[in-house]
Amino acid sequence: MTYILVINAGSSSIKYQLIDMDNEEVQAKGLVERIGIEGSALTHTTVGKEKFVLKKNMPDHGAAMLEVMKALTDETYGAVKSMDEIQAIGHRVLHGGEKFTQPSLVNEKVLDGIREYIELGPLHNPANIKGIETCMELMPGKPNVAVFDTAFHQTMPDYAYLYGIPYEAYKDHKIRKYGFHGTSHRYIAMQIQNMLGREDLRIVTCHLGNGSSLAAVKNGKCIDTTMGLTPLEGLVMGTRSGDIDPAAIPYLMKKYNMTAEETVNYLNKKCGVLGISGVSSDFRDLEAAAKQGNDRAELALQMFTYRIKKYIGAFVAAMGGVDVIAFAGGIGENDGEVRKACLEGLEFLGVSIDEKANLSRGEADITAEGSKVKVLVVPTNEELMIARETKALAL
Ligand code: ADP
Repeated sequence: MTYILVINAGSSSIKYQLIDMDNEEVQAKGLVERIGIEGSALTHTTVGKEKFVLKKNMPDHGAAMLEVMKALTDETYGAVKSMDEIQAIGHRVLHGGEKFTQPSLVNEKVLDGIREYIELGPLHNPANIKGIETCMELMPGKPNVAVFDTAFHQTMPDYAYLYGIPYEAYKDHKIRKYGFHGTSHRYIAMQIQNMLGREDLRIVTCHLGNGSSLAAVKNGKCIDTTMGLTPLEGLVMGTRSGDIDPAAIPYLMKKYNMTAEETVNYLNKKCGVLGISGVSSDFRDLEAAAKQGNDRAELALQMFTYRIKKYIGAFVAAMGGVDVIAFAGGIGENDGEVRKACLEGLEFLGVSIDEKANLSRGEADITAEGSKVKVLVVPTNEELMIARETKALAL
């Protein structure tokens, strides 16, 4: 047994998985919600055992982590006898700026580095730091590894990551494209390399979930991605606008009487397919509404898939061609209609999908016979990728 605990700490939540790296199987997983808010709750499941739910006020991440440890070691519901059986802890960290191009074994210097990027990841980095500090305190002596959402994208060339604003804004304030979902894009690209037995591939990875992004991965390295300084740039998402003319922002502020902060919140939470449709950010609801003749739900779906198609075209151009287009995430893995709409009209690039294979869910090769470009559904697994990185660095 080589047990690694993977932690994804949000501002009021902790998601965790215990993975046995001898067989890469999940032993237990759970979620603490509403930390520091009335009505905190822990939901824990050990594989093969009954689900455990605890409703108890947990004022901070320390209190929540203590309950996670109790659940993991519980005689009835737990997965281990003692926390000593866990050899290392891997943490998802949102923003690693330009400092972190790789996962890092946590020490004070690394923590300082993560603190340095709080300004760029104001909601996530403080929570990620809390998650790490809590584990260091409650499991002294265990190695902690930070795995950054931005790290995989650090191989982008400067002409791709810079914005067309004065160079000083980049030099003095580090304003540039960073990209996110890097752990997922990297995992998907590696799975494809393993599947096809070669690394010299031009891949467009499409991670489509509540948040969505595309990456152009050439010979295993990211050369471009759709998200930017923050996860707001790029695709039209569940509730995020994606690309928008920056001059629309002061206009929105004036028309809706919003502060800068309120406007960023509006662009992150009230826009995207939710804002367009007025129905939902969930694609199952949108498709049901569109089938019943809701025009705006239909429009939202069209906008979502059109923007993806446009970026696929851009990334194919950036890579000088394409060998594989891969879909992942809650939408990418489950929604054949979205996949089909994203690729419709790309036959000129040599892309065509097998309609029957495209109806399936989960891992699948949906390439049509004779298609020059492979089209794959590759379920992503960020937790496993974090556990692999943690094992490689800590054990
Ligand atoms: P997150 O970005 O939070 O990790 P996920 O990758 O789990 O999100 O994606 C969640 C989204 O996936 C849901 O909002 C929903 O739109 C979509 N989704 C999940 N299952 C299906 C399905 N069977 N058909 C269509 N869309 C789905």
